[in-house]
Amino acid sequence: MSIRIPFIAGNWKMFKTKKEALEFVETFKRLYKDTDIKTAICAPFTQLDTLKEALKETEIGVGAQNVHFEDEGAYTGEVSVAMLKEIGVDYCIIGHSERRQYFNETDETVNKKIKKLIAGSEITPILCVGENLEQREAGKEREVVSNQIKADLTGLEASEAAKLVIAYEPIWAIGTGKTATPAQAEEMCALIRETIKQLYDEDTCDKVIIQYGGSVKPENATEIMNMDEIDGALVGGASLVPEKFMGIINF
Ligand code: 13P
Repeated sequence: MSIRIPFIAGNWKMFKTKKEALEFVETFKRLYKDTDIKTAICAPFTQLDTLKEALKETEIGVGAQNVHFEDEGAYTGEVSVAMLKEIGVDYCIIGHSERRQYFNETDETVNKKIKKLIAGSEITPILCVGENLEQREAGKEREVVSNQIKADLTGLEASEAAKLVIAYEPIWAIGTGKTATPAQAEEMCALIRETIKQLYDEDTCDKVIIQYGGSVKPENATEIMNMDEIDGALVGGASLVPEKFMGIINF
């Protein structure tokens, strides 16, 4: 069995101006102590360059929250893999439920974006999957999430799938203060690993980093991080406050 290094990433969503990002980093760097786990901040496009520069002497990675699947072209408002690469971005969130819900992101576009990132860069995709409340109440969460994984990974080789970070983010737990129980999160992360095993093999599913996301905070980080199948967390609201994000990293 491979050793998976825990990975905790913040997703700032559409929060923080450049000034606010720099204020965050100043405090965060002061609080930061060397740790064995990986950490990253996924910020708005306009703050990526600033963050790369401000964090350059640290181990903290920088991630984007979306990318386009074409190399370049007449796609007003979009950003390409080459543009992220030039800045030295380490990660890119793909298929966040907010993009699926408000910006017509589909499993097909998610799949194209993952393929483009893997083929054209060293940027690690953080693929988000998860069911909504209606689907969970109908007992369909396992079917929904395994279908998302199958569709989103279509055409990927085992060696490519092994590089992914996958975040299980139940939509009903995002920004609601309602965290999935550790047992619920563990069950779904185990299902994701099992689905990858079915698609590829044991070795591949052993390598994939699987995060839980949805109302993670310092108070619940330990019990979530202690689950066997959960390798990390994707943190929204609590990653905006240096002390809270650090509290999660030091779970
Ligand atoms: P919250 O931590 O604010 O619930 O957001 C989770 C999330 O969507 C991370 O991508």
